Amino acid sequence: MSQTYKYLFGPVASRRLGVSLGIDVVPHKTCSLNCVYCECGTTTNLTVVRQEYFPTQDIVDELQSYLHTSPQLDALTFSGAGEPTLHAGFGEIVGFIKQSYPQYKLVLLTNSTLLDQPDVMEAVQKIDLIIPSLDAASELVFKKLNRPHRTLTAETMIRQLAYLKQHAPVEMWLEIFIVPGLNDTADELALLKQAVDKIQPDRVQINSLDRPPTAQWVKQATPEKLREIARQFSDRAEVIARFSSAMKVKADNHALADAIVQLIKRRPCTIDDLVSTLGHPQSDIEYELKMLMLHKQVQQEQLDRGVFYRIVEDFQ
Ligand code: SF4
Repeated sequence: MSQTYKYLFGPVASRRLGVSLGIDVVPHKTCSLNCVYCECGTTTNLTVVRQEYFPTQDIVDELQSYLHTSPQLDALTFSGAGEPTLHAGFGEIVGFIKQSYPQYKLVLLTNSTLLDQPDVMEAVQKIDLIIPSLDAASELVFKKLNRPHRTLTAETMIRQLAYLKQHAPVEMWLEIFIVPGLNDTADELALLKQAVDKIQPDRVQINSLDRPPTAQWVKQATPEKLREIARQFSDRAEVIARFSSAMKVKADNHALADAIVQLIKRRPCTIDDLVSTLGHPQSDIEYELKMLMLHKQVQQEQLDRGVFYRIVEDFQ
């Protein structure tokens, strides 16, 4: 991306979605949940109020400016550092993409909490692939793990997800994030299994910590435990990894620093993550990171998986 965009980021390469352009429509960190494992930091605006957080027309204009050249992409993905369906213009943006650029697969990463709002339910039915998260089926674990807005319940989310799957031809990959000590107990897993049986998603994806979490006590589940949990759910369940080193997307050379900032603004990354996602040599990435740290825009953090780079708060 040689031009600087405010609402678009990437494209990034992922094993799940291929080459995907990110669309981020709410300010950092506006969300209806404050998950303990969130890789985007603490939710500073915990809300269920849908608003035009950014002008809908500005987002549509950016999409138009990027997509009119017919870039080679596998997907356009609503994601970022917050809950996309909180944007009141979400349905309008979806409508614009489906009408003007139907050749791209439209993907939504969502926390599933606003599906009881009629406008949201109507808009998500036009999405090609929805990847909702559901980490808890009991209200107690939901509160401890997802730390929701006080009006939300796990029961409503499960009911609405089941309704969506039954009433719309959307493909659904349900993501369950395992936090050891919270939702990996036999009781909670049994309730989650019941929820999965009710929702009937096309796939169940089991995930665990990969980057620095909001709550420092959150630990990664072992691969063996994740595989065991996946086996319990169904033959449609799989353990997912976030980055693939096999796929590379070249970011424009002049835009490399900007591409790095756009990525780590959404979630902290290691150098390996950035190399595999942006497709630039490690030496180029290291050089740009060094410059960004020199200008105090980026900082390092040592964790089990390696050194992570994150944006300094003032530059969010
Ligand atoms: S993980 Fe997703 S749903 Fe949870 S707080 Fe972060 S952005 Fe919100």
